[in-house]
Amino acid sequence: MKCPFCGFEESKVTDSRASTAGDVIRRRRECEKCARRFTTYERVEETLPMVIKKDGRRELFDRKKVLSGIRRACEKRPVTLDAMEGLVDSIERELVESQDKEVPGTRIGEMVMSRLRSLDEVAYVRFASVYRSFRDVSEFRAELDLLARENGANKLDEKVPGS
Ligand SMILES: [Zn+2]
Repeated sequence: MKCPFCGFEESKVTDSRASTAGDVIRRRRECEKCARRFTTYERVEETLPMVIKKDGRRELFDRKKVLSGIRRACEKRPVTLDAMEGLVDSIERELVESQDKEVPGTRIGEMVMSRLRSLDEVAYVRFASVYRSFRDVSEFRAELDLLARENGANKLDEKVPGS
C-alpha cells in the first residue's frame, strides 16, 4: 500500500475495521518512511481471506484478536508492541500474498507460532500451550525438550508451570 505523501511502499497498519456489511475494510496506516498516517478502504476479496472457524463458520481476519493473543503470550516478556504489530503485519502480508479465499483458523495459529518462536521462546511456548491445548504435561514437556535441544540449552526448564 503506497504512501500517498512520499510514495514509499511499506506501511504499518495501526487499526483495521470492517464495514457493517463486512465487505470493505477501513485501515489506518502509518508510512514506515515519513511516518505520516493515511486511511485506506480495501475490498475484502482483494485483501485477506476469510477465516474458517472450528465450527465451520467464516469470519473476517480479526487483527485485534490475533494481536491480543500475542500480547497475552508476551506478557512481561521483552517484546515490544512494535514487534508484535510487525508479527501481525507479516501474517497479513502472507495471507494477502497467498491469494487464498479462505484459510483455516488453525493455519493462522501456526503462522503466529512460527513467528513467535523466533521472537521469544517463552512467549512461543505460552502461546502454543494455549493454542494447541497440549493434551497432557508430557506433550508440553516434549515441546520444551525440542526447543531446548535446538538451543543446546535447558534454559526453559525454570518456566515449566507445575513441574
Ligand atoms: Zn510516506
